[in-house]
Amino acid sequence: MKDYLIDTHAHIDMSINDETTLKDIIKDMNDAGVKKAIIPAVEISTQDKVVELANSDENLFGMVGLFPSEAKTYTPEFELKMETLAKNNNKIVAVGEIGLDYYWDKSFIDLQKEVFIKQIQLAKRLNLPIVVHDREAHKDSFDILKEQNAKNVLFHCFSGSVEFMKECVKEGWYIALGGVVTFKNAVKMKEVAKEVPLDKLVLETDSPYLTPVPFRGKPNKPAYVKYVAEEISKIRGIPLNELTDITTTNAERFFGI
Ligand SMILES: [Zn+2]
Repeated sequence: MKDYLIDTHAHIDMSINDETTLKDIIKDMNDAGVKKAIIPAVEISTQDKVVELANSDENLFGMVGLFPSEAKTYTPEFELKMETLAKNNNKIVAVGEIGLDYYWDKSFIDLQKEVFIKQIQLAKRLNLPIVVHDREAHKDSFDILKEQNAKNVLFHCFSGSVEFMKECVKEGWYIALGGVVTFKNAVKMKEVAKEVPLDKLVLETDSPYLTPVPFRGKPNKPAYVKYVAEEISKIRGIPLNELTDITTTNAERFFGI
């Protein structure tokens, strides 16, 4: 039985600052029973940093990828760079976070789609799983992934309905839930947490964003994935150690770590 948690989505590169070192972050993780964390990539300028962090500790892993709002910066050279980084570093375990975001800016949807498709194809060439960012773009994200015949897919910070969750699970895709599930008014997410098949569920923080209760308003950190686990175990009415075992097993299977 696995007795440690995994934070499948932690922007550790963004959490490091004058007051917080990588050592602090890892110590807090260890104290909270969180053994591993996976760091998504967002911008062109931070890909190297993610790789460096992943290579600096055996329990850290990374992704290569461009966030949808950054689509205008995508170039063939950058694609080649991601491909090379992923091929040369076995701690790069996914392509992400990639997808569609219709919340921040809807003025270049076609370009977002194009860049999403290119990165899905990159993931397939690399034989790596895909971590999807889908904000207010459920249908288009789903359709593109289907069209591209993407198999190893995880919806990070899942924000759809129970019905949409069921559609995704039917495709064999995974659902990642984070701090939002602890918010009192997050009725829809609590419903998803209750209904999602346990063999398709993984946990995340999206730190430094989306800090769970009881630390809302403060910066989030990977250690706080334990509050996500506690809330979901309550919602499901199953022991915390059981939820820990299954979500950790899922994450290790999905990312091959
Ligand atoms: Zn993220």
